[in-house]
Amino acid sequence: MSNNEQLQARKNAAIASGQGTLYPAYIEHAKNSELWDVDGNRYIDFGAGIAVCNTGHAHPKLVKAVSEQMAKFSHTCVMVNPYESAVVLAEKLNAIAPGDTPKKTVFISTGAEAVENAVKIARAYTGRRGVIAFNGGFHGRTNLTMGLTGKITPYKDKFGPFPGEIFHVPFPIPMHGVTEKDSLKAIKNLFKVDIAPADVAALIIEPIQGEGGFYEASPAFLQALRELCDEHGIVLICDEIQSGFARTGKMFCTEYAGIEPDLMTMAKGIAGGVPLSAVVGKQHIMDASPVGGLGGTYGGSPLATAAALAVLDVIEEEKLISRAQFIESQFRETLGQLEAEFPQLIGDIRGKGAMMALELVVDGDADQPNVDLTKAIIGEAMSHGLVLLACGFYGNVIRFLPPLTIDDATLAEGLNTFVALFKKV
Ligand code: PLP
Repeated sequence: MSNNEQLQARKNAAIASGQGTLYPAYIEHAKNSELWDVDGNRYIDFGAGIAVCNTGHAHPKLVKAVSEQMAKFSHTCVMVNPYESAVVLAEKLNAIAPGDTPKKTVFISTGAEAVENAVKIARAYTGRRGVIAFNGGFHGRTNLTMGLTGKITPYKDKFGPFPGEIFHVPFPIPMHGVTEKDSLKAIKNLFKVDIAPADVAALIIEPIQGEGGFYEASPAFLQALRELCDEHGIVLICDEIQSGFARTGKMFCTEYAGIEPDLMTMAKGIAGGVPLSAVVGKQHIMDASPVGGLGGTYGGSPLATAAALAVLDVIEEEKLISRAQFIESQFRETLGQLEAEFPQLIGDIRGKGAMMALELVVDGDADQPNVDLTKAIIGEAMSHGLVLLACGFYGNVIRFLPPLTIDDATLAEGLNTFVALFKKV
């Protein structure tokens, strides 16, 4: 077998540079929250494959469910010859989605497709065209979802033109001078200047911006958006692709606000790494699309639905919602001590559950992003066996997304490694 260096040279020659590499560590196997590369190096995984492996790597329940399904049949297409696991999974997702209105589900395979389908559904239901999205938001890399995404580099550079009828407004980030009032005012201005509310099909928001930097929409802000959408007949879409499936200490982050979105997009943690995504929403909205107009060849494949049913069992059996809350307490304690020691470098500690972030600044100034330090810490962490990811508009936010199944000892080891590196760099 080739080593890391050889594989990286081969990757550079074989895979387009647009699909870049954060770390040239080629994983050979993984177990729960640990990874081993082809050179035998071990890593603690504080990234979970970008919030996908909420139930850890190679969980025995998922391995069993997927292998048994593979041995029975791997694909028929849910729109051709359906199977029971798709029906059971849809019933379960309809039941756990926030709110009492009867729900329905549509299955696709990736997060971007879920967002695309949610917008299609909202347009079919309302007969309207406009979509409101937020600055700093991230919704995917397809043409429509790039259009909805509020950050240019690297997601939109060189890839336009983008679809029309998309309107961006500021996401409230009080520490950067944008209040909730400012954001609501921007939407109202939009209604006066750019598009009448009666022409707006949907408003899409991440209850915690993922790629954007783990900024939270407060319960009050989400409630205000709910009211605004109700007033104008606009479909409210909560994008829970990164924040769903127990990640934030609730099954879905939207639950903190106590609101019922009209549609919710789900992916990533839903099936522990087998590609699956879904739109789950109010029945009367979900059923407005023409038959055959939603989904796709692989949407809700038998392997994915088997994995997702196992994920839901593991979340319940291993009490991963309260585990995420415990993980948050451990991060807050450790990062809080670091902040007390290095107030000039740490601008903010934020997040919910096992979706935590540390924003690094220069001279204690929230408006001076410390991108160099962020890059140095993340690079150093990887070479010391700790997988970390960056996020945020400037890339000066370190995000922590460990599997929710991480055991106490590995969590403590990862946190200690992080503190030691932070002090060294
Ligand atoms: N929406 C959110 C909130 C995300 O975090 C992501 C991916 O990071 C997406 C959509 C796009 O998902 P995918 O990469 O599976 O297309």
